[in-house]
Amino acid sequence: MQGLFRLNDKLGRRLVLILKNYPCSWGKCSFCPFHLEQSTNTWDIIVFNRRIIREAIRLANRENYERIAVFNGGSFSELPYDTVNELAPLAKNRIFEIESRSNFITDDFVKNLLRLLAPRKLVIRIGFEVADEEIREKLLRKGMPDSEIKRILWIRQYLGEEGLPVEFWVYVLFGIEYIPDEKVVESVKFFKKYFDGVIAIKYKKYLPEHPEEKPVSEKLARFLEREADLVDWGGEEWDIEKKN
Ligand code: SF4
Repeated sequence: MQGLFRLNDKLGRRLVLILKNYPCSWGKCSFCPFHLEQSTNTWDIIVFNRRIIREAIRLANRENYERIAVFNGGSFSELPYDTVNELAPLAKNRIFEIESRSNFITDDFVKNLLRLLAPRKLVIRIGFEVADEEIREKLLRKGMPDSEIKRILWIRQYLGEEGLPVEFWVYVLFGIEYIPDEKVVESVKFFKKYFDGVIAIKYKKYLPEHPEEKPVSEKLARFLEREADLVDWGGEEWDIEKKN
């Protein structure tokens, strides 16, 4: 679902750009469908992304969007430099959200990004998915052990002490056979306590070899709507023009 979208939800009014990227360098998560939309052709990625970004800049200026989110089915730092550079006028003085695997995040990475993009605030979303390390590593195959959570928390604290405008948000996955409801609840509570925000994401099965979807109980749905900063039920609420 690459393109440009206007959203207005619990996080407020924002523009969302879903860009094209190279295949994720990790590429092992057991539930991940993102490789279906990725490309290995640098020129194809650059041209596609320039078109979306330039349209987004026009729309953001014309309609006064203060919050911009950029997703690319993987990590922001794996985008071509041309794409990152094109994003600078869009990020400048706005709340700018990106997503990344934890292993790409260092204090230098964040500082360089702040210098290059000059956002009012940088929000980095990380897909830890579940607090339980065994489920995260053995079943979801995230390659992000508990030591990574600790390392990111240390970076968050250090950057906060430096007074830099950066927040770290965490995705929590639900509606997937590997994660029982009580583990979803535990994860939301845990990540809420230590990070700046939690976004609950409803799992969707795209490929036969992927784990099964699991019905979401009313009790869990109510808990998530109440406790998470945002619940993404699967994109049906996305209402916009697709630019590809
Ligand atoms: S880190 Fe993200 S993009 Fe990469 S394989 Fe895992 S879910 Fe997919």
